[in-house]
Amino acid sequence: MHFLRNLIILSLICIAIKINLCVPTIPSSLKTLPIDGHFDFNQVHHAAKDFGNRYSFLPSAVLHPKSASDIATTVKHIWEMGPGSHLTVAARGHGHSLQGQAQAHRGVVINMESLQGPKMKVHTGNFPYVDVSGSELWINILHETLKHGLAPKSWTDYLHLTVGGTLSNAGISGQAFRHGPQISNVRQLEVVTGKGEVVNCSEKQNSDLFYSVLGGLGQFGIITRARISLEPAPKMVKWIRVLYTDFATFAKDQEMLISGESTFDYIEGFVIINRTGLLNNWRSSFNSNDSAQASHFKSDGRTLFCLELAKYFNPEEMAIVNQETMTSLSQLNHIPSTLFQSQVPYIEFLDRVHISEIKLRSKGLWEVPHPWLNLLIPRSNIHIFGQQVFGNILTNTSNGPILIYPVNKSKWDNRTSVVLPEEDVFYLVAFLSSAAPSSTGSDGLEHILSQNKRILELCEIDGLGVKQYLPHYSTNGEWRSHFGPQWEAFVHRKSTYDPLAILAPGQRIFQKAAPLSL
Ligand code: FAD
Repeated sequence: MHFLRNLIILSLICIAIKINLCVPTIPSSLKTLPIDGHFDFNQVHHAAKDFGNRYSFLPSAVLHPKSASDIATTVKHIWEMGPGSHLTVAARGHGHSLQGQAQAHRGVVINMESLQGPKMKVHTGNFPYVDVSGSELWINILHETLKHGLAPKSWTDYLHLTVGGTLSNAGISGQAFRHGPQISNVRQLEVVTGKGEVVNCSEKQNSDLFYSVLGGLGQFGIITRARISLEPAPKMVKWIRVLYTDFATFAKDQEMLISGESTFDYIEGFVIINRTGLLNNWRSSFNSNDSAQASHFKSDGRTLFCLELAKYFNPEEMAIVNQETMTSLSQLNHIPSTLFQSQVPYIEFLDRVHISEIKLRSKGLWEVPHPWLNLLIPRSNIHIFGQQVFGNILTNTSNGPILIYPVNKSKWDNRTSVVLPEEDVFYLVAFLSSAAPSSTGSDGLEHILSQNKRILELCEIDGLGVKQYLPHYSTNGEWRSHFGPQWEAFVHRKSTYDPLAILAPGQRIFQKAAPLSL
């Protein structure tokens, strides 16, 4: 009996030792680092969650930095420990990743939101800009810059995301066709590299690091400050939606609009699948120009394509803007009775998704699993993609918004790390699904994931030249194929700025202490 008990205890100790050998242990030296902020070794559960609500990796510690120097001290310490420590570091912005990208299994998560850099500073003049912390939320930047009658040029649809989080990807919305993504509108960065060095970089200074970090999935450095270009902010927005039954006509109109400089200030689109009571399903802020006519419009469950446009203006320009808008709209081939218009303050337009967030939160529907799939599709293949996906795969229902709109590649800088399709115009198609928790039906996680898989297989089999946006892969082979000819440069940048692969382990591109392989 005694022998058996000792054997069990011995086995448990062996298992514990084995686990300890292959996972990093948090060194007590972290506790003695000279920093202004602090480490938390107990309250770490929050850092194992994200918006995707599907992946959860518990860190061993969360750093709440007060300054960039706290971050540099911590990363440098881990760098000096060498590859033997296995310890990794993930910057966590607002935690709106979808697949654990801001998490660090048994590593250190940096809670960027506790960073207290110099105050946000707006510079007016001919080429206005704002200097912000990498942890700043875009909504706060909007509020601050508007005090000076200015605003950033390029946005995401949702503004409660951090500068570091969106610049690590690209930051795409309806303004990107004209201004490029957010990464095309940054002038300078302060970055903490994987060696714990604090480096300023821009197009002129340390330019390779600058372009590596933009769209770099957090692999090359932690963004602690950014200088963002601004433009005069309008006061009002004319917000327009029109409907199409035919995908080809919808796409043709979108492409015509993004090719002209003086049309709209924002161009997006989305898909409406199987909605009969169409008007009631729309946001109440929208009225048809001719409501009697529109109420006769029946979609009969057909898939519809909605073009969403916005024109910025100031109240004194109202008459001329109305005229310009009517001229631009007259060139479109939408269903005539489906012209929906609304006029809202600029800030309300930009912060529109937050209103949905509040509604969803109140119903407990914000913190559900989000198996999102974002794809960048070359223009020449968007029709075959549309036919197959909306004709064969998603015929009955959708589990969330499906955005679809083209952008001009000429507005993207090919020196950044972001991976794009090869053509001059490509579409962002975003399947923004929410899964009903514990459902096994068509609104359940398994079903949505299998649909996503079918969509990806279609892209692969038909060789559509599609790239994932907010990419997520598990194997080295998949990442190589995602980067294609850019893989070698990406690995080279990694070996220059984060040779031990300490940073952004949640992206699962490189493994710490594994040799960087070409
Ligand atoms: P986190 O999830 O905290 O981090 C994301 C990645 O960036 C991680 O790898 C992390 O380590 C790294 N990172 C975070 N901070 C830094 C930093 N300071 N320096 C270096 N690396 C860092 N994207 C669009 O382009 N357009 C949209 O319209 C859009 N809409 C969205 C709407 C919603 C509701 C959600 C949830 C996401 C949306 N996204 C959109 C995606 C979003 O841009 C990314 O998920 C972004 O990474 C989230 O920012 P975050 O601050 O929450 O980052």
